[in-house]
Amino acid sequence: MARERPRPTHHLPGGRFRNPWPEAADDDRIRGEFRKVAWEWLTKSIPPDPQPDALPVATADMAHPRCDDAETRITWVGHATHFVQLPGLNLLTDPMWSPRASPVASVGRARFVAAAPGLEALPHVDAVLLSHDHYDHPDRPTVLRLRERFGADLPWFTPLGYKRWFASLDVRNVAELDWWEGCDLPQGYRLVATPARHWTRRTPWSTNQRLWCSWAVTSLGAAGPRLYWGADSAYASHFKEIYARLGPFDACVLPIGAYDPRWFMSASHMNPEEAVTAYEDLGRSGAFLPSHWGTFRLTFEDPLEPPVRLRAAWEARGLDEGLLHVPRHGETVQLRSGGSTSAKG
Ligand code: ZN
Ligand code: ZN
Repeated sequence: MARERPRPTHHLPGGRFRNPWPEAADDDRIRGEFRKVAWEWLTKSIPPDPQPDALPVATADMAHPRCDDAETRITWVGHATHFVQLPGLNLLTDPMWSPRASPVASVGRARFVAAAPGLEALPHVDAVLLSHDHYDHPDRPTVLRLRERFGADLPWFTPLGYKRWFASLDVRNVAELDWWEGCDLPQGYRLVATPARHWTRRTPWSTNQRLWCSWAVTSLGAAGPRLYWGADSAYASHFKEIYARLGPFDACVLPIGAYDPRWFMSASHMNPEEAVTAYEDLGRSGAFLPSHWGTFRLTFEDPLEPPVRLRAAWEARGLDEGLLHVPRHGETVQLRSGGSTSAKG
C-alpha cells in the first residue's frame, strides 16, 4: 500500500492554506484588525490620488509576433499585469484590463491610468500566469476578453483552487500547481509555482481557501533566460529559498506598492526597501522591474512614493544603476544578456 505523503507545511487540514514561515505567524491576527485600519483611514490625513499627468503613459515596443533569440521584453500594462516576451514564448501575468478592481463593475477602486497597451494590441499569448484571487489580479471581464481574442484553449497556470472559478467562465484549459510544482511548456520553458507570503479572499467566507503564489520561468535549454515574477508578497525567507532552488535570474519583477500603514500591511505587502532586500536574497543579479504600484488606490501611502523610495534604497545599497528599470505605464523594457541594457519604447 502506498504510504501517504506528509502534508506540506503551507497546507492546513480542511483544505485551507497558510504562510508557513515563523515571521508570518501573526499575519492572520493582523489582517483581522480591519476596523482599526478603517478608523485610521477616516481619521488620518491620506495623500491624495495623483493628477493624471503625474503618471505618463508610454508607447509599448512589443515584438511582433515574438522577440529574437538574444532578448527579453517586458511590457508593464499597469499594476501586476506584464506582457513578458522571452525567445519563443509570450506570457501574460495577472491580466487586468478593467477600469476598476472590484466585484462590481460600476463601483470600487478605479485606475489612475488606463491599461496600456490595449488588450487588442497584444501579439499572440502562449500562456497566462495567475498569482491569487484578489480583485486587483484575476478579473472576470478580462478573462472573457482573452478567451474571445485568443480562444478557449489559451492555457492558464494558477496556484491550487482556481479551476472551478474558471469553469464558470467556460475557461477549462487551466493547470493548478502547488508551490514548487513545475510544468514544461512546448516552447522550451518550465514554469514553477513558487511561494509568496500573502493570502486569498474573493468573498468574505473564502479566506485562504485558494492558494497564492509567485512564478519562476526557466529555460529547458542550458543558456536560456530565467525570470522571477514576484506577484503580491510580504517579505519572508522564501526569496532565499527560491534563489537556492531556481536562481540566478536574469530579471526579477517585484512588487513595491501597497505598504502603509506598515503595522497592518507588512503582513501582506513589501515596502520598496524590503523589495530591494528580496532582490538581494534572489541573488542580487539581473534586472529589477517594480510592479504593483501607481495603478489602484489600495493603501494609505502616496501612490507616487514607491519608485522614489525604490531608487533611494537601490542607491543606498550600492546596487548597479544599469540593472534598475522603472517602466512607465505601457512601457517596454528590453533586456539583452543578463539584463544590463534597456531600450525603452
Ligand atoms: Zn493580493
Ligand atoms: Zn494586489
